[in-house]
Amino acid sequence: MQAIGYAIKNEGQLLSPFSFTTRDLRDHDVLIKILYCGICHSDIHIACNEWQSTRYPVIPGHEIIGEVIEKGPLAQKHRIGDIVGVGCIIGSCTKCPSCQEHLEQYCDQSFTLVFNSTDPISGCENFGGFSSHIVVEESYALSIPPFFLQNHLAAAAPLLCAGITTYSPLKYFQIGPKSRVGIVGLGGLGHMAVKMAKALGAEVTVITSSETKSEQALKLGASKVIISSDEKCMKLHRNSFDFLLDTVSHVHDLNQYLDLLQKDATLCLVGLPQKKYQDLQGDLLITKRRRIAGSLIGSVKETQEMLEFCALHQIFADIELISPEEINMAFEKILQKKIPHRFVINMKEIS
Ligand code: NAP
Ligand code: ZN
Repeated sequence: MQAIGYAIKNEGQLLSPFSFTTRDLRDHDVLIKILYCGICHSDIHIACNEWQSTRYPVIPGHEIIGEVIEKGPLAQKHRIGDIVGVGCIIGSCTKCPSCQEHLEQYCDQSFTLVFNSTDPISGCENFGGFSSHIVVEESYALSIPPFFLQNHLAAAAPLLCAGITTYSPLKYFQIGPKSRVGIVGLGGLGHMAVKMAKALGAEVTVITSSETKSEQALKLGASKVIISSDEKCMKLHRNSFDFLLDTVSHVHDLNQYLDLLQKDATLCLVGLPQKKYQDLQGDLLITKRRRIAGSLIGSVKETQEMLEFCALHQIFADIELISPEEINMAFEKILQKKIPHRFVINMKEIS
């Protein structure tokens, strides 16, 4: 069908309206009318070609909430009218060891990203959630628990990326009631990470480069805030964390955070800035058997589990709802690192 979105048509340009045709429905596909879409910093990295992989025109958006309005003849998972979510993943090889383990984000053939990718069967370009409609295979459309349907539907959108990207490593590294967790960077991912770690019972500290975010960090449930430029405070907290989750979207010095970890503890990177990290101080790892790890979103199965966990604990994102015409403004504010929450676009307003 004919759809409309907000695309960046060429490198360096702003987002502007763009018409496209969604792919024809296959047997197991669903056609979704998009209601809400969150804005993740990865959308900006790709929009600006910071990962050198962007194919223009590109319509970003991978924190999608929408309504199923049509189905392929064999699609059974969702009914017409169901509210569903779509995150980063809309396909994978299904055969490699990672896919067989339900870890398709680590697929040997690389999973199919919801945008900036090609549909392997039709050869059509995949356009993301800053648009009116999307077609995906039904198994990649998540069921949205009833808790969110009443009042918090827009605020559930960021769970599809920011939520799962923070939940997955916290679970993998077995964060629980006795864990002393530091969240580095208080943006979209960071604010979700505080909520997730709190719900898992951890004692949470926010480590931020922005003094102005202290109050917000405490409101979110952090018991302490460390300003990363405060050398005295950073020194005071040496060897005091079991786990650090680094959500920073810009190149930064990892060494100062490594020193905060106690023996055998892990610094897990989820932030994905455009450049390589340099000048890693090996002695900081070796002398305390510390580890650096990374984590990529989470699988479709784990995303469904995370949605149920959030419904149970009444966790949703802190959001600022904007209209599609305001996406460029939102990109700008995110880049100024002013936003300790998520922008969500009201896609119902697209015309
Ligand atoms: P965001 O809302 O922009 O938050 C990033 C935070 O990083 C900022 O709020 C800021 O926090 C900190 N920061 C930014 N520039 C900085 C600088 N120059 N120096 C120090 N700190 C700085 O971004 P997001 O949507 O949360 O995404 C964060 C990162 O995660 C992005 O790189 C994104 O691509 C990546 N990501 C990865 C995955 C994955 O699967 N691994 C999934 C989604 C997103 P403070 O002001 O508190 O310091
Ligand atoms: Zn994202």
